[in-house]
Amino acid sequence: MLAAGEKPNVFVLKKALNAIKGEHFPWMYEVTKCAPEAALADLGTAFANYLRDLHRKGGRRAKRPTFKKKGRCRDSFYVSNDQFVIEGQQIRLPHIGFVPMRERLRCDGRIMGASVSREADRWFVAVQVDVEDVPIQRENQAPVGIDLGIAHAATLSTGKAYNAPKSLAKNLRKLRRLSRGLSRKEKGSRNRQKAQMRVARLHRHIANIRRDWTHKLTTNLVRRYGVIVLEDLAVGNLMHNRHLARAIADVGLGELRRQLAYKAPAHGDRVVFVGRFFPSSKTCRRCGARNDDLTLADRIFVCPACDHREDRDLHASRNILREGLRIIQTTEGPSESDACGQVASTKRSRFARRLVEAGRAQAHGKTPKESGGREYV
Ligand SMILES: [Zn+2]
Repeated sequence: MLAAGEKPNVFVLKKALNAIKGEHFPWMYEVTKCAPEAALADLGTAFANYLRDLHRKGGRRAKRPTFKKKGRCRDSFYVSNDQFVIEGQQIRLPHIGFVPMRERLRCDGRIMGASVSREADRWFVAVQVDVEDVPIQRENQAPVGIDLGIAHAATLSTGKAYNAPKSLAKNLRKLRRLSRGLSRKEKGSRNRQKAQMRVARLHRHIANIRRDWTHKLTTNLVRRYGVIVLEDLAVGNLMHNRHLARAIADVGLGELRRQLAYKAPAHGDRVVFVGRFFPSSKTCRRCGARNDDLTLADRIFVCPACDHREDRDLHASRNILREGLRIIQTTEGPSESDACGQVASTKRSRFARRLVEAGRAQAHGKTPKESGGREYV
């Protein structure tokens, strides 16, 4: 279609699909009409994005929509709110009828739609509900700097460090054994199907452990801190390093970052990213000298000028915090005046100043309330 110079929008796609549906995909008549509806709309958007990027970025970063096969990875479809009914602990889906759910709907509000998905041999329905925003009470406004890494997934400037469960590393042997078993089964056989399911179930198990840990950590952080400063890591680029890729994926650094970025505003917090070339681990936070000889294997930072010694990750997180506060101060500092009026701007600058003071005290280790040694959770 693209070759013919046509722009595939949702209507063109729908027509094209209907033309070949009967011949190539007879199974589509067994499922609800809504299943391809949302998928086609998504594909239309995907093509529009692709064509836009093709022109805008000289085609360098344009990504062609990828093909998704039925029965591979994660099957899912979307149903709009006029297509299903929820009654107590049951949901009525088109063409399928009533399906019992494990729990009742947790939120009150207008139901917008639902997506039905499958992971290995379990089915899920995620119901989209429009609820009112409830302002969340936070413990304090304290700022925190976070150093993300592999040895310790997250080290806070307060001295606390969190270790990822590394569920993939722990299950790698088992995963390899199951995958080996799968590759030995005859194609199309019932035993191959069973082996496939075993692999899929283990993958789900690994992902669940990681997901649980990430959500608990990020929720905890956005509840406890008003300002969160992170390094703007290029996770995608780091993943090109094959020595690090598996470890990074196992910690889920990209997901950790993504969750903090979306959860923070919902809690009235701010997330500040410091530039990815900011030398957080190599610059001495006491005198500013650089230790360029520091390698990933060195767990302790030693300053060549003033002999300051500190745990590498903790040192980096405190540098990150300081840099984040500097960014806030320069963008919202007292020098800036805005259209919102004097009151708003002084309030904000006072807030920024207070943050900077709090951060400075913390960066110098003057508030040892939480920083009494390292804790691993
Ligand atoms: Zn120094």
